[in-house]
Amino acid sequence: MRWGLIGASTIAAEWMIDAIRANGGHIMGVQSGSIEHGKAYAEKHAIPESFTSVDALLDLGLDAIYISSVNDKHKAQLEAAAARGCHIYCEKPLTLTLQEALSMVDSCKGFNVQFATNHHLRWAASHQAIRKAIVDGLIGEVRSARVFHAVYLPPHLQGWRLDNPSAGGGVVLDITVHNCDILAFLLGEYPTTVTSMTDIKALGQGLEDEAMSVWRYPSGVLAYTHESFVTPHAGNGIEIHGSEGSLVGENVMTQQPIGTVYLQRDGARTELTVSPQGLYTAAVADFVSAINEARAPACDGVAGTKSLAVALAVLESAQRGQHVKVNYGGL
Ligand code: NDP
Repeated sequence: MRWGLIGASTIAAEWMIDAIRANGGHIMGVQSGSIEHGKAYAEKHAIPESFTSVDALLDLGLDAIYISSVNDKHKAQLEAAAARGCHIYCEKPLTLTLQEALSMVDSCKGFNVQFATNHHLRWAASHQAIRKAIVDGLIGEVRSARVFHAVYLPPHLQGWRLDNPSAGGGVVLDITVHNCDILAFLLGEYPTTVTSMTDIKALGQGLEDEAMSVWRYPSGVLAYTHESFVTPHAGNGIEIHGSEGSLVGENVMTQQPIGTVYLQRDGARTELTVSPQGLYTAAVADFVSAINEARAPACDGVAGTKSLAVALAVLESAQRGQHVKVNYGGL
């Protein structure tokens, strides 16, 4: 498959270029707003061509586009690529407003191209083991969940995420979307109502660097989530609590295929068997299969729109100091 990259980004350099190539993809070109950055990036990653214009990249005649520019650019770039018949693999948050995300979904539908959102955690063997244990009934009826996704933003990422609202900075748009998606994957549902508080503690410059929320699900499950850019020593994890047992994932809210999953029930703690796999490689593999099988990717544009809807509700709740009903725009 012939791929193009829109955005000469860190995430592509650290994970996605390898994931695309591991799935047999050929990266034909990269688009960057900066000539020098694009050229240097293409050379470093053995990409044949670099462009400043999206149209020039698309002129290469590509099968798929990976969009990892800053968040406010995704929509226009997606629409240009979808109009040229390219399947779309887009970074989260898809964009900054619900209406824009809905319109991105419609564009891909209209141009008959597949649309995936890069929520990588679903592809972690640890989370897949947790889901299997829930589905197999090992914890009985699920009652509550806790997500600790509080990190220290690495210095090389301390740019637009901290000070640029129009680029979609802030910890909520960055991390809460992932927490929403992983809980949707594990619980099979999305929250109806959220209540949240956010704060600026240490790094944020006008944008929140810490958030805590409680979400209510249609089944009655309550989930608590903590996202942060400023907690260097917290560790991370997820817990799903049921009537018969609890599942505890330690160090599983990460980009790496690491972490441990325990089942706690009947007074014992048992480690579940997990066979690690590259999260991004598995995600791209599903996207490629989806294209070949003419089906929607497992984590599609609708999933990306719903995770954005929840993040927007979290921000609104924090701002208004009230519970907020999540608006999914009819999805
Ligand atoms: P970066 O800050 O690394 O890159 C974003 C854009 O900034 C680039 O596309 C480029 O813009 C510009 N840029 C970066 N470095 C330079 C430079 N040296 N000179 C000039 N311009 C530069 O972003 P991230 O990789 O951190 O994030 C990109 C997207 O990926 C976001 O949507 C983010 O939310 C998402 N993301 C997703 C993750 C996941 O696990 N799914 C993890 C991390 C990020 P341009 O090419 O337009 O010129």
